[in-house]
This record gives sequence, structure tokens and C-alpha cells, in this order.
Amino acid sequence: MRIHVGRLIDGTGAAASADQVITVENGVIRDIRDAREAKTFADPARRCLDWSRYTVLPGLVDAHCHLFMSGTADPEVRHRQLAADFEEIRQAIAGHLARAAAHGVVAVRDGGDYGGHALRYKTEEAPAIPAGMTVRAAGRAFRAQGRYGRLIGRPPLPGQSLAEAIREMTAPVDHVKIVNSGLNSLVHFGRQTAPQFTLKELRAAVAAAHARGLKVMVHCNGETPVAIAVEAGCDSVEHGFFMGEENLRRMADMGTVWVPTAVTMKAYARMLPQDAPEAATAMRNFRHQLAQIRLGRDLGVRIAVGTDAGSLGVHHGQAVGEELGILTAAGFSIEGALACAIRVGGDLLDLPGNREIRVGNPARFIAVEGPPDRLPEILSTSRRFDGSLDPQERFLR
Ligand SMILES: [Zn+2]
Repeated sequence: MRIHVGRLIDGTGAAASADQVITVENGVIRDIRDAREAKTFADPARRCLDWSRYTVLPGLVDAHCHLFMSGTADPEVRHRQLAADFEEIRQAIAGHLARAAAHGVVAVRDGGDYGGHALRYKTEEAPAIPAGMTVRAAGRAFRAQGRYGRLIGRPPLPGQSLAEAIREMTAPVDHVKIVNSGLNSLVHFGRQTAPQFTLKELRAAVAAAHARGLKVMVHCNGETPVAIAVEAGCDSVEHGFFMGEENLRRMADMGTVWVPTAVTMKAYARMLPQDAPEAATAMRNFRHQLAQIRLGRDLGVRIAVGTDAGSLGVHHGQAVGEELGILTAAGFSIEGALACAIRVGGDLLDLPGNREIRVGNPARFIAVEGPPDRLPEILSTSRRFDGSLDPQERFLR
């Protein structure tokens, strides 16, 4: 079959190309060529789908979310979610994955929850996960005793080191999540919190995880907590607010991925009462992070798109579009921002490397109705195409 697409974004960061005809055979992309050229060879007997109003691109990765929570501002619902048992939370997770899928997301990396609910859902409810969706889950994150992170994890047992806790973990996790700082202050702009673990502890922990074949994502804000995480050899720095230029340079050198989750601060600024000083501080935090993203991009830091969906005002699926928009505001082209969500995110989650739209790769992509520059706002129009399925089932909403 052939599909005439209005715009094609291959996912490498290359500029979109207009009016392309994609030929799909046996679920594989056999040919991609300019529509005018394709006409010359047009065989009227072979149907060509008209997707000229659509932009076609590979599916997106949300490299940081919390499936057990929704982005709702309703305090009653948020409170319930924080105390719910698995039966209750199961419905919520199903809804969040459906919303992510409806926004063109094909893979999510969960950053942990106190009950290990997302990991349990992934393990026990696999048939309920939307077709084509990959879920990677950390289970319960690790934090230090008495420090921030109660909602997403737990400390090692008394007398147990962080590395021992990781070595002795029996849950079938996909990666390890470690919390190594507090939250960003909404009262004191840029105030940093102490690291939760020493360099020695974190280095041993990362080595223990890597020995088990698990990558390590580290929640850290501020110069010292981030410096320790990077030096310890973590795979990704989560948030990284106020980390400063030295850390960005080091991450560019070491290839450490950064997941800035800038949308969280934008959401706080929007959701908090507008006359509250906290709303103004959230906006300053956001602008500071925007400047760091610009610098990180210039320095060549590998940046992935992660939303922290589940945080106040940060909705699964929708927030991916918002974070993409933020990356473009920080100097990325839309194609470059999408490469952060497709290529960098895919590498971080160890997804197959054949996800770009090119000849020889599986014919799997999403289509959104409109031009590339409107993409952050029109992700909710996305439809998914999988050429390996029966013709009637190829278009998955
Ligand atoms: Zn998080």
C-alpha cells in the first residue's frame, strides 16, 4: 500500500519534508519518495491513501512519568490517589496509559511510586496495556531515611547500604530510580537541598544496578546533588533544576542524558493562586530551567522529553506536547525537539533502534492532523499506524 503524507518527520532531527509517498509492503517501509516523482510511476490500480493534511512521525517517548497519579488539581482526588490500594489505582493507570497513547506516546518510563503499583500493573495487567505501548517501571524508588521521596519510594532497610538494597531487590524492575535531593523551593528561588547520598554510596549503587543490567535514573536538583549523580555514573539526571554550567559540561562529556521536566514548573505557575508568591517563584524556576536547556543544547547535552506527569497540573499525554513546546522555546527546532522525544528517549528506554521512518524499517508511525509547527498543540489528534497489522486494524486510534 501507498500513503501520500503532507509532511514527513523521520525522527532523526532532520527537517520535515513535504508531500512524500510512503510505500509499505509486509509491514516494512519499502520506499519513500517525493509525491511529484511518485506520480510518474503511479499505478492507478494501486490505491494511495490521502494523508496530505497530516504530519507523519515516529511515536513519542515520555521518559519520566508517574502512572499512579493524575495531574488533577482536585485535592480530594490527589489525596485519594496517595493512599489508594492497587485495585483502586488500576483504573487510574489504565486511563493514564490510554491518554498517553491518544497523544502519540508509544513508550513511558515510570519514575516510581510508594506501592510499586505501576510495576505491578505492568507485570499483572499486561493485556490491558494499549497495543504497541511499552511501559518501563522502576517500582519503588530509593531515598535516604527521613528525606524527600515518601510518595515514590522508600529508604534501604536499617543497616543496609543503598548498593546492598539494589543487589537484594527481588521486584522485576526495568530500571532503578534514586532520589538524591529535595524538591525545588517555591518560596526561596534557587535554594538548594543537600544530597541524600554521598558520592561513594551512589557510585556503589550505580555499579550494583549496572551489574544487574539496570539503568539508573536520579532525581536531583542543585549543583552538588547533580554533580554527585553525574560523577557516580548515573544514566540520566531527572529534573536538574539549578544544576549549573559545570554539570552540563560534564554531562555532555560523559553522555549522561538529561530529562529536564520543565513543564512541571510551568504547571505550578499556572495552577497556584496567581497572587501567591509561590506562583511567581515557580515561573522564575521555569525561566531558569529554560535558560539551562538552551545552554545544555548548545553544549551538546543529550536531552530527553519527560513530563513528570502525575505532578500537579501535568497530565499524561498532553504534557508531552507542552514539554516539546518548551524545548522549541529553548532553541530547538520542532524536529530537534521531536528527536529528543524519539531518539534520545528511545535510547534511554533501550527501545529497538529501527523506529525512525526510513526505508527498511518497520512501518510504524503516528499521524497528527496539521503542520509540524503546530505539533505541540495538536498531539491529541494523533492516530497510530502499524503496517504489520491487518489492513482493517492498521489505524489504531
Ligand atoms: Zn518524578
